[in-house]
Amino acid sequence: MTTPASLAIFWFKRDLRLQDNAALALAAAQGPILPLYIAEPELWQQPDTAARQWEFVSETLQDLRADLAAAGQPLVVRVGEAVTVLETLRRAHGVTRMFSQQETGTGWTYARDRTVAAWARGSGVEWVELPQGGVIRGLQNRAGWSARRERFLTSPPLPAPALVPLAGPEPGVIPTARSLRLTEDPCRHRQQGGRSRGIALMESFLAGRHRGYRSGMAQPALAERVCSRLSPHLAVGAISAREVAAATAEADRNSDLLSFANRLRRRDLFLQRLEDAPELDHRPLHPAFASLLPTPLPTARTAWEAGETGLPFVDACLRYLNATGWLGFRPRGMLVSVGCHLLGLDWREVGGLLARRFTDYEPGIHWSEVQIHAGVTGIDALRIADPVRLGRMLDGAGSFTRRWLPELAAVPDALLHEPWRWEGARSLLGRRYPEPVTDPAVATRAARATFAQPRRQPGFAQVAEEISLRTPPARRPSGATVRRAARPPAPEGQLSFDF
Ligand SMILES: Cc1cc2nc3c(=O)[nH]c(=O)nc-3n(C[C@H](O)[C@H](O)[C@H](O)COP(=O)(O)OP(=O)(O)OC[C@H]3O[C@@H](n4cnc5c(N)ncnc54)[C@H](O)[C@@H]3O)c2cc1C
Repeated sequence: MTTPASLAIFWFKRDLRLQDNAALALAAAQGPILPLYIAEPELWQQPDTAARQWEFVSETLQDLRADLAAAGQPLVVRVGEAVTVLETLRRAHGVTRMFSQQETGTGWTYARDRTVAAWARGSGVEWVELPQGGVIRGLQNRAGWSARRERFLTSPPLPAPALVPLAGPEPGVIPTARSLRLTEDPCRHRQQGGRSRGIALMESFLAGRHRGYRSGMAQPALAERVCSRLSPHLAVGAISAREVAAATAEADRNSDLLSFANRLRRRDLFLQRLEDAPELDHRPLHPAFASLLPTPLPTARTAWEAGETGLPFVDACLRYLNATGWLGFRPRGMLVSVGCHLLGLDWREVGGLLARRFTDYEPGIHWSEVQIHAGVTGIDALRIADPVRLGRMLDGAGSFTRRWLPELAAVPDALLHEPWRWEGARSLLGRRYPEPVTDPAVATRAARATFAQPRRQPGFAQVAEEISLRTPPARRPSGATVRRAARPPAPEGQLSFDF
């Protein structure tokens, strides 16, 4: 064990792993490090966070702690405001350098990093930040971006570095959700955190679970089995996208795995969007939509929170999400559209309500997708989800909806997704199951008129074109009512996806 005169901190943020961690590899190559995780109570009080996310992080920290201990350097965990924790360690251990990943997060983490950077400058600590994926900080234009991302994703992942055993400070306790003052958040079927669990999921997915991925991923009854379920592990960085891409490239190529690899590519695309526009969680990509005034139905929010909108497929998805912390891609998009277009909620509110239910909350992906499905990017056509049609299409047999809505047991299959048309509706609706909060067809017409207004503003198309040139447009989510917007021709380099 060494006790060096000066020390570098390695600050683990959302890269909770030793493997394929460029900043850690660099730090370890330069001498002994103090591996640190800071549980920041203020971060965990932000409206997009929840106890289910913290529980997942804390399980991942336990694995990380074991891995670091095996390498001779136990993880140091501290609870508090980042600058206070860092300054205390600097004084106690003569810290002169600090390494971390470049974090692409919310406005809160961006502001925190600016404060930490000011502290580092003021106290003579050199802070080295390295990218952890294909995201490029300070990107001026997107020419060549996808080629660079592709080079990164197809290069070999870095091995875990050798660490110098160190007589460091007290390891500290990983705090509980309660001690971080997080509201109780029961999530009975939540995924468990920990790198070992992430690796096991990746292996089972690549070994066979992926069969039927393309056709099954949209169907909630199948999705939880045929999807990789790697999202929360990727979100906390227990496993890197490059590690997953490398393992996928070694597996047998088939259409399911090609489709999966394409989705994985999309990750960096959306993280880059947030990196370029850190205000993505509160400002629409196209400024014309800033003037849209939400007109929520009076009961919209409570109905949504309880999974009692009276729209069966929507309620089944909401209840499933409450209980599991996860949902497949298509239902996520539907929930955003239903919340914004049919219930009249503001897209920021819908995004926040969903974010804290997702164990895998990843701000870059989340807010990009929320804006697309809410129809406020200006570069994606407005699509309004039809929950009855989607229910029939994605849960035709009704097994998923019936499982989460047992009160609909008596409704015949043919009318499961629109029980108000059932002859026995009077004995059910308003008693054991609510009347629909809105008539989807009427609400769709009204939303279409509302969302068309910003598009008529002078200069709308020109601004959309500028956005399009600096922001790769996303694909069109299928299964929703499509109204094509006038849009400029797709610029060179646009990514295409197979769905
Ligand atoms: C409104 C909305 C909000 C979303 N919020 C999140 C979020 O907070 N966190 C999150 O990880 N995903 C989010 N997604 C994308 C997608 O729904 C999830 O990644 C996926 O359901 C996670 O399950 P999986 O890991 O089994 O996915 P798989 O289908 O197995 O995909 C593997 C990985 O690819 C990446 N990926 C998949 N789909 C996308 C996508 N559309 N855009 C970017 N990367 C993608 C994810 O990292 C995912 O873990 C959102 C989608 C929508 C429509």
